[in-house]
Amino acid sequence: MSADCLFCRIVAGEIPATVVLSTDTVVAFYDIAPQAPTHVVLVPREHEPHAVALAAAAPDVLADLFTAAGDVAKAEGVADSGYRLLFNTGENAGQTVFHAHLHLLGGGPLGALAGARPEPLR
Ligand code: AMP
Ligand code: ZN
Repeated sequence: MSADCLFCRIVAGEIPATVVLSTDTVVAFYDIAPQAPTHVVLVPREHEPHAVALAAAAPDVLADLFTAAGDVAKAEGVADSGYRLLFNTGENAGQTVFHAHLHLLGGGPLGALAGARPEPLR
């Protein structure tokens, strides 16, 4: 637990969130600023700054995030219609909370994967 980490504080129950799933290793809650009709954030209880660090420190917990995502997708009614799972990693990806988290987005057609690019791909 990191006292100045927003998601550690949600996991600890110090900051309210609408929790949709809670397991020994994972907590999932609605994103406060949803970017799709269904937008759930899944976080490991363990603090790691991003997904790659979590993979190195606790690969089983990384797998737990995906298992939990499948359960959330079913519970939210998007398992059959499809959904997107993504990790923003670092500044250029737009990561704002440096506690690893998996976004689950669905509930309607989603836009392009990477959005607008400032430069053409090489
Ligand atoms: P990222 O930009 O990938 O770091 O994602 C962080 C996400 O956390 C954003 O989509 C925010 O809208 C979301 N968020 C920030 N504060 C809260 C909060 N208190 N409860 C739920 N979601 C939050
Ligand atoms: Zn944290």
